[in-house]
Amino acid sequence: MNNNCLILVVEDDTPVRNLISTTLASHDYQYMTAATGEQAIRAASDHSPDIILLDLGLPDLDGVEVIRSVRSWSVTPIIVISARSEDTDKIEALDAGADDYLTKPFSVEELLARIRSTQRRLTYMKQSGPDKPSFNNGALKIDYAGKAVYVNGEQIHLTPIEYKLLDLLSHNVGKVLTYQFITKNVWGSSYDSDIASLRVFMAGLRKKLHGESSIQTHIGIGYCMVRAE
Ligand code: CA
Repeated sequence: MNNNCLILVVEDDTPVRNLISTTLASHDYQYMTAATGEQAIRAASDHSPDIILLDLGLPDLDGVEVIRSVRSWSVTPIIVISARSEDTDKIEALDAGADDYLTKPFSVEELLARIRSTQRRLTYMKQSGPDKPSFNNGALKIDYAGKAVYVNGEQIHLTPIEYKLLDLLSHNVGKVLTYQFITKNVWGSSYDSDIASLRVFMAGLRKKLHGESSIQTHIGIGYCMVRAE
């Protein structure tokens, strides 16, 4: 299946770009490279890659500008590669439309794991379309029409806000959602007090899901529902 997946690697640092390219080639991925933001936007529009790996620190444009540009016409998953340890640039990138992120230095295994998880999400999106009646992910099942949630076949009862959270996470499976994105969608606002409430509601939701572990916490950034393998 890797053979059909074209990955655009956007990185101005030649050794890092070569490392990523070599890794992709040795795992049978097709890839193409770009060293600037302008090249990246052109390559994304000319070649419609399946996944974009995007370094945020580029010589001409900021990576976030590349995301905004690509997002104006494409839903191609974008995995951001950030050299900065602060969370603000990742949050900005995710809110601009990136799907996931890697922090430098990263291992080859981490890189491949993110790509595989993005491929699973792509496969899932192609199979089920946007208006699916239900959602299955490991032990978790959501019946959207009936607003009913099951873990291992047993129905669990959620408050309206807990359900809204789970609904939002499941419709964005594999995508890291920032605190701001979630609170805007669930409460319509994004004050610090909403973010504090979000933590409380997420803790409640997780407890009701009985340790069903598909919801990941990204400390300082947000949450992501991961697709079960
Ligand atoms: Ca760079």
